[in-house]
Amino acid sequence: MAWFNKAVSADHTGASGLWATCPGCSRSLRDRDLATNLRVCPSCRHHLRLDGVARLRTLLDDGRWTEHDAGLTSTDPLKFTDRTPYPSRLEAAAATTGLRDAVITATGAINGLIVEAAAMEFGFIGGSLGVVGAEKITRAAERALQHRRPLLVICASSGARMMEGTLSLVQMAKVSAALGRLDRARVPYVTVLTDPTTGAVAASLAMLADVTIAEPGARIGFVRPQVIERNGGHPPRGFQRSESLLEHGMVDMVVDRRELTSTLARLLRFLGAPSAVRKPLAGPVETPVVGGATRAERPPSLDLLLD
Ligand SMILES: [Zn+2]
Repeated sequence: MAWFNKAVSADHTGASGLWATCPGCSRSLRDRDLATNLRVCPSCRHHLRLDGVARLRTLLDDGRWTEHDAGLTSTDPLKFTDRTPYPSRLEAAAATTGLRDAVITATGAINGLIVEAAAMEFGFIGGSLGVVGAEKITRAAERALQHRRPLLVICASSGARMMEGTLSLVQMAKVSAALGRLDRARVPYVTVLTDPTTGAVAASLAMLADVTIAEPGARIGFVRPQVIERNGGHPPRGFQRSESLLEHGMVDMVVDRRELTSTLARLLRFLGAPSAVRKPLAGPVETPVVGGATRAERPPSLDLLLD
């Protein structure tokens, strides 16, 4: 599982002072330069992975937020062991990431608009969602409901936490139920799908948002193409990539990471997010362009919201 840890660095910027090879164009890039460009390759625009803390730091005003439930950690309910006992995996992931589980939840602001945010950390056991991560997102949804603030979830996950078995799988229903309550109360829910968003996360909370944004080139889907090929399938070119999902109406926007903050700010303002006292709203409300949903002949998400 060493590849899980590639996107994580001690200072949460992805910068280590070393060189990296761009997976998109194979150019050698200095990590320091990549970090200043939000880990987007300046040559080919390939979006390298960004860890959860860096994600919040780049999106939330002043790089600051109030974190919730940071101390929650799995109790290893199944006493699970494969090659490594589950508690050892948890300890190793904690040592690598500085986190107790794969989800960070926070209250913060984007251009002065308050949001309840959750960011997944792929470096923590593949960003897998277990009892703890799901509980944190559920609580974030409940805070959003209580305060009528939009909920923003940045996904980066391989799916359910296999070491928690069925307990992990039922979390998808729990989170979905909390999101359903948000929906019925007409509190906006926005997701940003980053590379990768797969498995049970893709099949539940990632795709339940009012507005679904994807980063360019992100892999988004339920099972890996290799699994489909092994079972006789022939995934088409571009299968499970953001651009293909936009074309087929599964996501609403594909947004360059360097434009994500401004896009979210326009969207949140349009959705009526409350403003923080220290940064009052200013300027006209702009209508963001939402394209993909229309192409699949279903109503655009924003139209549904405003119904
Ligand atoms: Zn490149």
